[in-house]
Formats: sequence, structure tokens, C-alpha cells
Amino acid sequence: MIRVNENYSRIKPTYLFAEIAARVAAHQKAHPDAKVIRLGIGDVTEPLAPAVIAAMHRAVDDEAARGTFHGYGPEQGYAFLRDRIAEVDFHARGVDVKADEIFVSDGAKCDCGNFQELLAADAKVAVGDPVYPVYVDTNVMAGRHDIQLLPCTKANSFVPSPDGCDADVVYLCYPNNPTGATASLEQLQAWVDWANAGRRLILFDAAYEAFIRTPGVPHSIFECKGARTCAVEMRSFSKTAGFTGVRCGYTVVPSELVAYAADGAAVPLKPMWTRRQTTKFNGASYITQRGAEAVYSPEGLAQTKAQIDFYLENARLVSAALAKAGYDVAGGVDSPYVWVDVKGDSWKFFDHLLAEANVVTTPGAGFGRAGEGFIRISAFNSRENVLEAIDRISKAL
Ligand code: PLP
Repeated sequence: MIRVNENYSRIKPTYLFAEIAARVAAHQKAHPDAKVIRLGIGDVTEPLAPAVIAAMHRAVDDEAARGTFHGYGPEQGYAFLRDRIAEVDFHARGVDVKADEIFVSDGAKCDCGNFQELLAADAKVAVGDPVYPVYVDTNVMAGRHDIQLLPCTKANSFVPSPDGCDADVVYLCYPNNPTGATASLEQLQAWVDWANAGRRLILFDAAYEAFIRTPGVPHSIFECKGARTCAVEMRSFSKTAGFTGVRCGYTVVPSELVAYAADGAAVPLKPMWTRRQTTKFNGASYITQRGAEAVYSPEGLAQTKAQIDFYLENARLVSAALAKAGYDVAGGVDSPYVWVDVKGDSWKFFDHLLAEANVVTTPGAGFGRAGEGFIRISAFNSRENVLEAIDRISKAL
């Protein structure tokens, strides 16, 4: 008899976006003429940068000719991309990450979900609350049900401290989804010291790194002293360069990083991750990686920076409008997400904005218990729609 993995039945159903879609559909049915503006999900709206498009067109031509055609590539990614990542994302900032520690993938979600496979089934896991649900659900699927939630509240500026955390592995995400908060170097250093002191692991999700503009805010966990012996970092081209539909990301696994066998022997994680990726993944496409490489060209850097500046200005406008309406807002700086304290039930507030302003947001309760009382407003939309949404929200409030 074939048995199922019963851990799947223990995943909390995440009705969040399905429930939002159902409520929006019902609203549209009742008000067919309403022009609904979506500031809910975190998908980009600006088209790919011209430098990326040109590079991908050239890559298609490469694929069309003998001599330049590429079949299977290296599972870890092409050297032309890994070298540029190491140079621009790390060396230029004085951060020690080598090209052979960079594993290119088809996005950060898979890497965030897959990395736990390298850890013992009984590893204790901690996550922030509210949280990007992938960290929790992938661990529950693997049988780790007892996940420690670290409340991220106004009181700790949405950055938990490691004091009292007895997990073996912690997921940290800064700039944060959904709260939009950033962590200071001191706050991240405290986590690195905690991890090194207890032979623990940090899985650091830096998917929103490109939104950081404030000087001094760390872009990478590897800016902390000692992080190379306790941390893995995931990055994504999704929000950095509008690759949500193209699919490309990468994970940094330092050569020094180890986890431990039952007898206490240190086992390097980089060869394990190499084994995992070469066995289960066949690499991001050549065309995609040529597009990602173009992000690091002078034109690509300027064009993608302009796109992020555009979303950041949207976020600033949304934050200012909500603050003017008397609400406490967090995020929206160094992040595309504005986290609004709605002083009450987040689904009720969501329904109110949908009914009265025809604007879709995301209720904080969908990201975890500590998200109740907040809504997330995303800056991913056209300026015209953001301005209209702000106007309507201000009237509705
Ligand atoms: N990590 C966080 C925190 C995210 O919010 C997202 C997407 O919204 C991802 C990872 C997924 O990134 P990717 O598109 O590279 O899979």
C-alpha cells in the first residue's frame, strides 16, 4: 500500500491569496463597473529593463546557431554570471563571497524551501512572526512541526532578538516581507554571535536587498563578523530586476560553513548543497542567466536602479498618505511594502478598503498571528494607479 507523506496534512492551509481573490471576485461581481486597484500581492509591474531584454535576445540568437548553442549548463550556474554576482553584489561592498560559493537557481523561493533538506529531521526551527510562509510550510512538509515563532512587533521594531531562542536554525528576512522592516548591522551581528556560540545556522533571505537606500543598513548577512561560519544567504532577481516571470535567484553557501553529525563531526554544507543541486536541479536556462548577467552591466545597473527608485517613490507616497490619515506606518523605506497598524481586525480593514475604495491590500493576519492588526500595502503598481488608490483610500478613511 502506498502511503502518503502525512506531514502534508499538517500544513496550515494558506487560504490567504485564494481568500483575497474570492473576496475581490465577489466584489467585482456585485460592482461590475468598479475599477479595482491591486496593491495586494508582491509581484512587479514594470517591464524588464532594456539591457536585460537586449541580452536575452542575443542569447536566443546564440541558441539558434551551431557553435554558440548551449544545452545543459553547469547546475551551479555559468561562470559569467557567478563572477559578476561575486564582484558587484559582494566584492564592491567589501564583502568576502567567492564565485564558487554562489549557486544560481530559478528563484529564491525554491532555495528557501529546499535548503532545509540538508538538515536533520529533528532540527529545531525558528521563524519571525509574521512570516513569508515558505519557511514554515517546507519545514512542516519535512516533519518539523514544532516551529518557534519569534514575534516581530512594534515593540522590537519588527526585528526579534536571539535572546531566549533555542532553535538550531533560524530564518531571517531583511528587508522583511511583510513588515518592510530592515535590520541594523548590530541586530544581525547579535544573531550571528548567537549562531556561532551554539553551532547553529542562519538562513538569511535578502530577496529585497536592492531596495535598501539608507546608508549603513546591511545588504548582506556576510557584512557581519563571523557570518561565514554560520550563515547561508538567498537572493533573487525577482524584485531586483523584475524577474518574477523570468525566474532567477542565487544562494551563497560559504566554504567554511558546517553542520554536525550525531557524533559531533563537522560536515561542510557547501558540498552537500552542490550534491543536492546537481542531483535535483539542472540549472537556470542560458537565456535567463544572460539576462541576469546584463543586470550587472552599467546600463543594467542604472535601469534596474531606476525601476526600484520608482517603486520606492510609490511606497513613500502610500506611507505618507496613510500617516496623514492618522495611521502608524512602518516599512515603505528600503522596502516595497508598507505595514500599516489598522488598530483592529485586519480582514475587516481589508474589506472596508475593498468596499469603499476598490483597493486590494493584504491583511496581516494572513502572515501569522503577530500580523493581526496590520495590513500590507504593496508599492508594485503604476504611478497613476498608486495615486488614484491613495486618493480613494484617503477618502474612505
Ligand atoms: N523571499 C521572499 C521574502 C519573498 O517575498 C519572495 C517573493 O515574494 C521570495 C523569496 C521569492 O523569490 P523568487 O521569485 O526569487 O522565488
